[in-house]
This record gives sequence, structure tokens and C-alpha cells, in this order.
Amino acid sequence: MRYISTRGRAPSLSFEEAMMTGLARDGGLYLPETVPTMAPDEIAGLAGLRYEEVAFRVMRPFIGDAFTDAEFRALIDRAYAGFGHAARAPLVQLAPNHFLLELFHGPTLAFKDFAMQLIGQLMQAALERSGQRITIVGATSGDTGSAAIEAFKGLDNVDVFILFPHGRVSEVQRRQMTTAAEGNVHALAVDGDFDTCQARLKDMFNDFAFRDAVGLAGVNSINWARVLAQVVYYFTAAVSLGAPHRKIGFTVPTGNFGDIFAGFIAREMGLPVDRLVIATNQNDILHRTLETGAQVTQGVTPSISPSMDIQVSSNFERALFWAYGRDGAVVSEQMDDLRAKGRFTISQGAIDFLRGAFASGRASEAETLATIAGIARTTGEVLCPHSAVGVKVAADHLGAVPMVTLATAHPAKFPEAVHRATGMLPPLPSHMADLYDRPERVTRVADDLAALQTLIKERRRA
Ligand SMILES: *Cc1c(COP(=O)(O)O)cnc(C)c1O
Repeated sequence: MRYISTRGRAPSLSFEEAMMTGLARDGGLYLPETVPTMAPDEIAGLAGLRYEEVAFRVMRPFIGDAFTDAEFRALIDRAYAGFGHAARAPLVQLAPNHFLLELFHGPTLAFKDFAMQLIGQLMQAALERSGQRITIVGATSGDTGSAAIEAFKGLDNVDVFILFPHGRVSEVQRRQMTTAAEGNVHALAVDGDFDTCQARLKDMFNDFAFRDAVGLAGVNSINWARVLAQVVYYFTAAVSLGAPHRKIGFTVPTGNFGDIFAGFIAREMGLPVDRLVIATNQNDILHRTLETGAQVTQGVTPSISPSMDIQVSSNFERALFWAYGRDGAVVSEQMDDLRAKGRFTISQGAIDFLRGAFASGRASEAETLATIAGIARTTGEVLCPHSAVGVKVAADHLGAVPMVTLATAHPAKFPEAVHRATGMLPPLPSHMADLYDRPERVTRVADDLAALQTLIKERRRA
């Protein structure tokens, strides 16, 4: 299995190389050259299996010879051992034909743990074999950072630097990043928004001298291994509800487009996914893109669902690559336009493809709060604001086909919003009960590439 860049000008890589690299050297994102498929009887055979076994069967064809079957199984088992629910990704029912996939039972209480815990294990195993050291730099809108810190803290051959937008993450999210005591973890509060953080991260990847000097590795969802790990729960959820014998729809609270793109890959693999509905908050660039056929960035307006406060949605590039018939040159041009002019216009053929593959909707702040309140009243389920955006948009798309909304974070990560909506304060799980008592360690930094690079070079252990 080889991996190719969405921009068509970087060398193809093995799974392990693509995982350790992150961004391609032509600025593109890696994708499998061909997507392996599963036959209906193989999908039917997943029914009733443990999450870890489904994960093994779904991901195995993508990893080539990176790990033996026994190694890969052991790494998957270790990745999910710390989850607080035996099903890992349990389904609950909200209404007739509407289900919620709870993806927040991992150690940092957001769906990011599904991928980050696994790539933590895979990267460690690869590094132990090669004797290499790496510097992980991650940009976060709030949840990727804590998930990465949890997965990589205390490792001898890894230094972790997390860029988060100063003042734009929830207090629980910030404390999860700033209270790690391990010396290899560095939380950096950047003056700017998430797009600023992600842009500086991409700048570092595009500075090959720096990239090679520090052994830069990326764990944002530009990393293919993260997307792959997220494909698994589309299978477990759909099979629980009757796939492959019936179609299942999914609604996904979306920011950087990684989670929903995993659903697209599940469909390419043969899972009968009906609709894939993009749910956005008031930062609705993806919804507008589908409606108008042009992607036009505006400023980010901070919302009560901060992990989705994004205008530059990296993984959309992967969908564009499909939409343009896997033509890296066209994708390159569109991405150059986005960088230079803040906008690009999608061709008629490509937008038709995207509208066939995805639907979309947005939820305002008031609708999000009303959804948290309404669902708590009618079902007892307490939603985080991101999940509520999903549930609101899904409700507008319900029909004869069962719909699964992805619940992306635990309500206790966003206590202010939940309290505003319901008057209740959702308690943190016991392993995080002392979060507000732990000392914080954080460095405030300007939006300055050279200064950031200097800081990283000085702090990383040689
Ligand atoms: C990251 C995140 C999202 C958005 O996921 P993408 O893969 O970036 O689209 C939604 N909700 C929560 C809680 C998140 O942490």
C-alpha cells in the first residue's frame, strides 16, 4: 500500500513513512493510492465483535507491512485500554431513527483520543525500532492538543509542542494542556486564532531545513493515520444498526474536516453510508462552500463550540482531490488561490461530486443552546455544544434512513455552555477531578514563525 500527495508532486510513501511525516513535502496531504474495499459478507462479519477486533480488520489493509498482525493487534489493544466504556464508542438513541455515537469516553474526553491514542502507540513502536527521535508540533482548537499530550507525555524519544489560540479554548481544555508535569511537554499560547496556529505549523513543515533539523512530525488530522483510526467507528456504528443490509446516515460536527472525511473513506471501502452531513457552527465556511460552490474565508467568530472555530479546513483538500478525479495539479492551483486570495471557486463537475457525497447545515449559538436544553429534557442525555450542533443539523435531515450523530466531546469539557443551557454543571470524570488544583505551565508566544522555531530548537532535548 503506497500513499500519494493530494498535490501530486511529492514522492509516494509507505504507511509508516506517511504517518511519521504528516504533511507532504509539496504542501499536500497523503492519501492511499487506492482504497481497499470490504465485501458485504466481510462487513456483516463485524457484527458483535469487540471494538479492537473491528479496528484491526478495518485498518489492516491500509498499513502494509509496517507491523505484523500480532504487533498491530497488541498496539490497538493498548491504545483503547484506557477508555472509560467497554464498548469504546457506544450508541444511544435520541429519537425514532436518530442515534448518538458517544466518542468521548477516552482519556481526554473528546473523539481525538481514538486516533491519538493509537498513533501514540504506532509511533512509539516505530521509533523504538528505528532509534530515531522526533519533535511533534501540533496546532489545536482545543482538543487535539490535550489528546496529543496524553498520548506522548513522558516519552524519551519525543518532544511535544502544542500551539493553541490564546484565550479561545475553554478553561477545561486549557488546563488539560497546561497541567502535564512531564518535561517533554510544552504548551504554547499563541496570539491569534486556530487558523493562525495551523498556518504556522504548515510553515514549519514547509521549511525543510527546520523540518529535518528537529525531526518534525505532525499529529494534526493532516496525518493520514489519524483519519484512518476514525474510519473504524463508522463501521461499528453502522453494523450495530443493520449495515450492510441497510444504509445508515451520519451527521458530523465539523471543523478541519478530518472526522467527516473518515466517514467518506468508510463509504469508499464499501460501507453503505447514506448521507454524510457536515454540521457547522456560525463559522460556516464549509456549509457556504457546498451551497455556493466557492470557498471564501471570512474572519473566525468565537463561538460556544470552540473546537469548530475554523476557517481553513485542511482535510477538505482530500475531498477536493477526489472531486477533481485525483488531479493533484488542479488541487494545487486551488490551494494556491486560497492562500493568496482567501478564496477559490470549485468547478461545476467537482461541486456536483461534493454535493452528491455530502450534505450540510449550520446551527446558530441560540439553536445550539436550545438543542442542549431540549435533548436533556427529552432524553436525559447531556450534549457538549459541538455535539449539539450536530444534533440540530441532523434533526433537519432526518428521514427513513437511520441517522447517527457523532458526539465529539464530553459535556464536562464545556461546563459554561452546558450550564447556560440547562442550569446543570456536568461533573468531570474522577480521573480528572483535581484538574482545577493542578499547577499550570504555559508560554505565551507571538504569531512569529522565526521566534517559534527558535523556542522549539532551544527547548527540545538533543
Ligand atoms: C476537533 C473537534 C471537532 C471537529 O473535528 P474535525 O475533524 O476537525 O472536523 C468537533 N468537535 C470537537 C469536540 C472537536 O474536538
